[in-house]
Amino acid sequence: MRLPIYILLILISAQILFAANPRCYQCNLKIQQTYIEYNDNVYHPACYEATADRCAVCNVILSGSVIAIEGKQYHKSCYEDSVAEHCGVCEKPILSAIIEYEGGHYHEECYINSVLPRCAVCDEPLREEYRVDYWGNNTHKRHEDEYSPCESCGRLISDRLTGGGVTIDDDRRICGICFSTAIFDDVETKVLAKKVSYDLAYYGIKIDMNDIPVILTDPQELARLTGRIGESNELGLAKSEKITRAGNVINRSDSVYAIYGLPERVLEGVLAHEMMHVWMAHNAKEKPSQAVVEGVSNYASFLIYNSRNDSMARMLIDNLQADPDSIYGDGYRQVSKFVEQSGLKELLDGLRHGTLDLK
Ligand SMILES: [Zn+2]
Ligand SMILES: [Zn+2]
Ligand SMILES: [Zn+2]
Ligand SMILES: [Zn+2]
Ligand SMILES: [Zn+2]
Ligand SMILES: [Zn+2]
Repeated sequence: MRLPIYILLILISAQILFAANPRCYQCNLKIQQTYIEYNDNVYHPACYEATADRCAVCNVILSGSVIAIEGKQYHKSCYEDSVAEHCGVCEKPILSAIIEYEGGHYHEECYINSVLPRCAVCDEPLREEYRVDYWGNNTHKRHEDEYSPCESCGRLISDRLTGGGVTIDDDRRICGICFSTAIFDDVETKVLAKKVSYDLAYYGIKIDMNDIPVILTDPQELARLTGRIGESNELGLAKSEKITRAGNVINRSDSVYAIYGLPERVLEGVLAHEMMHVWMAHNAKEKPSQAVVEGVSNYASFLIYNSRNDSMARMLIDNLQADPDSIYGDGYRQVSKFVEQSGLKELLDGLRHGTLDLK
């Protein structure tokens, strides 16, 4: 009578084993000892080892935080160290949207705060189309409605960009940078005119400024003197009169005008331009066309700017070159091309002898 008990025992034991020994999800055989449970399934350790997903970087079985991307899986740390793009600003891995810009990769926030150009007026990042002035200052377009451009340099007059600015004659807006060299004083102007005449003499353009008054005036008065009220925004004027008797000049009277409040570099160019008019009045055999007269005068401004060679002078040269005006702009381009090809002496001699042919 002992056997049935034994069997019974065995049966009981088999039932216990059945309950505790599930089948391996991989090989479908019963698991006798330790097993590994993964995703609600159980495995022989060896079966699990053979089939488990492994990190695409280190090939170790995945555990902990896993990153799945483009059909591959990674330990989070492996992904961050070896796969993820690293931000060009903070150098941390980028796990969210990547901003690509000029070969660099960035977190969106890092890009906005550290890569995007900032507005020179309000210092906010420039997320949309923006304005770039001659000086390379980037500004929101909307500031054009809020701030005036400087009449001399084109910068938007604002505290951050130009240190503010001033308005003179009710409508002339001048930025703080230009205003710092603006000239309102007759004596200073005379000194500057002498300096300009000295520099032009170096190029063979001799004008004796000792007897020629240089007068600063306001734009309205200048317009009245030129007889072109309301239709020009000229900055200077040269007046040359001569009295001849029997074909000989017995008296000459010249004067040079410029408006006050111009930055020094601009005023130098204006003086050179007007002084060149005087030189032509004295030296040109016959009066050339208006385009040649203005082109030659602008060329004198160029000579002065070119010898100064600072950023303002370079802007003024670019302005001469880009002037769309058919007299001032075309004239200047013709004259400078002629000088490039034939030399300045040839230009001056051509004016002296009435033989200049610019084509
Ligand atoms: Zn198995
Ligand atoms: Zn790994
Ligand atoms: Zn970053
Ligand atoms: Zn702005
Ligand atoms: Zn300015
Ligand atoms: Zn002129």
